[in-house]
Amino acid sequence: MTSTATPYAGPNVLTAVEDARSALVADLGRDASDVGDHLGNVVESDGVVTHLFACTRKGYVGWRWSVTVVQLDGGPITVDELVLIPGDEAIVAPAWVPYRERIQPGDLSPGDLLPVGDDDPRLVPTYFFGDDPLDADAKAQVRQVALDLGLGRVRTLSPEGYDAAAERWYESESGPLAPIAQAAPHHCHSCGFLMRIAGHLAQHFGVCANGDANDDGRVVSMDHGCGAHSEVRLSKKQEPLPVPEPVIDTITPDELENF
Ligand code: SF4
Repeated sequence: MTSTATPYAGPNVLTAVEDARSALVADLGRDASDVGDHLGNVVESDGVVTHLFACTRKGYVGWRWSVTVVQLDGGPITVDELVLIPGDEAIVAPAWVPYRERIQPGDLSPGDLLPVGDDDPRLVPTYFFGDDPLDADAKAQVRQVALDLGLGRVRTLSPEGYDAAAERWYESESGPLAPIAQAAPHHCHSCGFLMRIAGHLAQHFGVCANGDANDDGRVVSMDHGCGAHSEVRLSKKQEPLPVPEPVIDTITPDELENF
């Protein structure tokens, strides 16, 4: 069971600032001038205290020297750890993101491969191979039989896959929150250019098939919309002004001079 009691550091380790500084200076050797003022301490656990010192090294603005001192059961004070750690104002590298999570739509170039893991939650098997372990050849044979029988794709979208796609599309520029949809006079569900799709998302999404619209060829939500809606009509004052009848100018240059 985890104890929630406040740790008791003991007066010796709390005041062992000079011991901590000496250990740090000895460890840094000729770089000892990089150690600045004592900034405070952190009680880590019973008898364990970390003393913090400013780092005055060039290029390390906001970094601190951290020296952890320990005294257990009244024994001698020992120095356990000397490290340089970033403070709140330190410049540090951004958190590392695994390569797979860094890839964004649009990053793939022709010829690039992006394999999907066997356990990707967005996909579920369309059929099973059975309980017996199969080698690659046997799996290929099963796939061929499944193909011959018309069982279709090896994997299809899982409920998670559908949910993720619906969420992504709904919040995209083809959803109801896009500025063009907010300003649209009508929604896609009543537009003649909306192509219906089949499947679980058919009630909420379709494909825009208006070559003049920004969303042509894209999945749009039923409550998206744009000014190219099939039933949009211009009001009288929005209609272009009629062009006046042309007038043939018969005045010659000589007549013009006599005016
Ligand atoms: S033209 Fe506009 S309103 Fe019609 S389906 Fe396409 S995006 Fe929706």
